Amino acid sequence: MIEILLATNNQHKVDELSEILSAFQLPITVISQKTWFKGNSPEIEETGSTLEENALLKAQALHALTSLPVIADDTGLEVYALDYAPGVMSARYAGEHGNDAANRAQLLNNLHGISERTARFRTILHFINNATSIFVEGICEGTITQEERGHHGFGYDSIFIPIGETETFAEMNAEKKHSMSHRARACIELGKRLSQILDIEE
Ligand code: IMP
Repeated sequence: MIEILLATNNQHKVDELSEILSAFQLPITVISQKTWFKGNSPEIEETGSTLEENALLKAQALHALTSLPVIADDTGLEVYALDYAPGVMSARYAGEHGNDAANRAQLLNNLHGISERTARFRTILHFINNATSIFVEGICEGTITQEERGHHGFGYDSIFIPIGETETFAEMNAEKKHSMSHRARACIELGKRLSQILDIEE
């Protein structure tokens, strides 16, 4: 089994990625930073100006520290009428990092009076090992609501309706969200690429 470090302390992300990758029957085990560093996890600052840069810098930093193969992710919500904002600033759109309610309020406020509300979630996953450095992308297109709806999920879920749907992500159960989410799509792309890469390296 090849151990792959996922650049996160969030066990939900590890579980989701492991579950999706299990369909590809790869000889891998995904572990979190928390497990590897045993609670002494380094904080890698997301100083990049794009999602791609942030995923790359996290993957490179952790690969340099551990020599393990690493997968790092970064996700952003891109609203076309706002010139792709909040994008790479999604986690700190209202100033304070990780204040989801303030970020949603800021976005609804900035879209006040704007009827063109199309947007997309975009996830970048970067994989790096001694031989390879690749990234994949997962996109979910949709629109921003006028007000919050639903109580599931996190982040911008309660103000985003995927294309072709009537419910926000926060009104769907987790299974339905994962069947169409940007992160799940990126995981599937990564599974395909890893099938090729790990095959060649064997
Ligand atoms: P991260 O790259 O997973 O840390 O995500 C950056 C920010 O995007 C988070 O703070 C969330 O607010 C938002 N975000 C990421 N994924 C989702 C999602 O699936 N639904 C809603 N918001 C998300």
